[in-house]
Amino acid sequence: MTQRVSIVENILNANDRLAEENRTRIQSAGVFSINIMASPGAGKTSLIEQTLSRLNGKLRVATIDGDIATSIDADRAAAAGAQAAIQINTGGDCHLDAVMLHGALEQLDLTLFDLLIVENVGNLVCPASFKLGTHKSVLVASVPEGDDKPYKYPGMYRGVDALVINKIDLLPYVTFRMDYFERGVQVLNPGVSTFPLSCRTGEGLDAWVDWLTDNAK
Ligand code: MG
Ligand code: ZN
Repeated sequence: MTQRVSIVENILNANDRLAEENRTRIQSAGVFSINIMASPGAGKTSLIEQTLSRLNGKLRVATIDGDIATSIDADRAAAAGAQAAIQINTGGDCHLDAVMLHGALEQLDLTLFDLLIVENVGNLVCPASFKLGTHKSVLVASVPEGDDKPYKYPGMYRGVDALVINKIDLLPYVTFRMDYFERGVQVLNPGVSTFPLSCRTGEGLDAWVDWLTDNAK
């Protein structure tokens, strides 16, 4: 058992070193970068689409989309106005790691962009353990997933710099106690920047886009 733990630690240490390299590369090109994580269906790609349409040429954006098999998300980002959209197919892996991001960065001339949006694989467990080298990590929660997620997936909620609560237009139709949800978040990540919004109606999106553009300056 001890042996197993040390192997896992070695893998994570190697990942962290490469994440540092990625960070240096992104930073030296003057790009601000985020890593968006969520469970499948929370609305990562919809958030990216809505963000791109609101940025409206104010920032030059590249997206890197991690997916187990398809290129649907990268295609959507390109259609929504990303100046570059790279797809990483993980070949079955349930998270992105620093090696995969490193490979994707090789395909981009970072000096052409202001903002890099990385969409991680939909999963609420291991993406939190694998640093990529991005500046900020963002978790997208959504109302239909239920209000108990901070309690069930504390590792994911603890480490993020911003929390989006998507699909607030569904609050009248599902049982989601916002106060219970937020109490759980506050214990794990006090004062985290939180953006309740709806990608469908557009409510709340401006505050999120302002946070992003302020950080990218
Ligand atoms: Mg997606
Ligand atoms: Zn995984």
